[in-house]
Amino acid sequence: MRRTRRLLAVGATIACVAAIAPAASAGSRPHFTPGASGIGDPYFPLEGNGGYDAQHYDVDFSYDPATKRLDGTTYVTARATQDLSRFDLDLQQLDVSRVTVDGRDTKFTHNDPELVVTPRKGLPRNSRFVVAVTYGGVPQTVIGSPVVFGSPYGFVHTDDGAFIGDEPNAASTWFPSNDHPSDKAAFTFRVTVPKDLSVIANGRLASQRTQGDKATFVWDEKFPMATYLATADIGTWDFKSGRTPGGIPETVAVDPKLKGRDPNHPDPMAFFYDTTAEATDLWAKTFGPYAFDSTGAIADLATYQGRPIGFSLETQTRPLYSDVRNTTTIAHELAHQWYGDALSVRTWDNIWLNESFATYAQWLWDEKHGGMTIHDEAHAVYGAHSGTDPWWNVVIADPKRDTMFHNRVYSGGAMVLQFLREKIGDETFSTLLRTWYAQHKYGNVTTPEFTALAKKVSHQDLDAFFRTWLYSTGKPALPQA
Ligand SMILES: [Zn+2]
Repeated sequence: MRRTRRLLAVGATIACVAAIAPAASAGSRPHFTPGASGIGDPYFPLEGNGGYDAQHYDVDFSYDPATKRLDGTTYVTARATQDLSRFDLDLQQLDVSRVTVDGRDTKFTHNDPELVVTPRKGLPRNSRFVVAVTYGGVPQTVIGSPVVFGSPYGFVHTDDGAFIGDEPNAASTWFPSNDHPSDKAAFTFRVTVPKDLSVIANGRLASQRTQGDKATFVWDEKFPMATYLATADIGTWDFKSGRTPGGIPETVAVDPKLKGRDPNHPDPMAFFYDTTAEATDLWAKTFGPYAFDSTGAIADLATYQGRPIGFSLETQTRPLYSDVRNTTTIAHELAHQWYGDALSVRTWDNIWLNESFATYAQWLWDEKHGGMTIHDEAHAVYGAHSGTDPWWNVVIADPKRDTMFHNRVYSGGAMVLQFLREKIGDETFSTLLRTWYAQHKYGNVTTPEFTALAKKVSHQDLDAFFRTWLYSTGKPALPQA
């Protein structure tokens, strides 16, 4: 009772009304409280939100390249994980005009990046609800923290549409969401564009229709997906669909302007399509059956203020490339479908579980295609950094926000995986990678879970090894073989 009074005093009247509503179950009187404004990420305290679990997003919007405006409504189906008096969604920059919960207009305030929604009645724990947010504006490309990502990212306006790559925190620049990888959900994208353009997103194309001078594309990703892996790219595309030799449905979209960009790959469609098929099948054989029901690529000539955007991203089922890339990059982004997408980080400090694994896979690819052996790659990385090189100051298992994409997390972590492989043996290491994937497919993972599994699978005490190689700064002596 004192607690409710205190809530009243700070102005949470709805919480109080909810708290004296009839009890949801016999014998217990629900105490409705606000969900947290962040999900508890050490690097991004406001990313994600507490109090509910998003299950499905229906992201429905129109976009016009002439005005760069996006207008739409996103419907989030969620389950309350506490008796919820109010909750937040993450939404940056765009203007909200209306919010409903289960179809009823609802009070909201937008303290960017937090959209605070106060339902008329408290939402009992475990109840399902649908929150619909109508919003619009010109999505802004994120350039605020170049140290984190190195190049502009998020919603990039191209001359004929949009290129959208959101890691780690830009999904909320184009749709309201529980924007954190620990809350995965299924997605439907319904995107309306001028009829001479088309849309490629994650998953499978469900429908496509033209009405007047507009075209609407509906894409469905039914498997759990982290928000930063969502994409819906707009432009003029060449499309190719089929199946990989291993039988996985594949759809590739390539910007016709990429033709002739790279003399090594004069036919970008053939290049992206064939490399994607080969890498998807190879990783399915190496790491375990593919988790999703389509693969592919989105290759778009994307620039920001006239300068090329230097990145590729493992957007789920269909990695995103801002130009023609080499085969190694394609192999890297597809390996992320296993390590990053099917298995996602619980919090961003575990980022090496994505990047070191994808880099290790990239080395496997190189070795298989006549490049350096993985053993030599690992030793080359070790040798390239002297004991006084600050490169060793980044702690792989907790690289810190502004260095979360540091090379130590990529090559440095791949080197550690190779040293681990040499310590526990090829067969045990392969069992470890496959078991890791099989046990956590569609879920979230942490470093302690990986090190515990490594010890279990290898029957070795690896504590000192991991302490030295994952949790320490400084250049260690090479491990004894
Ligand atoms: Zn990567």
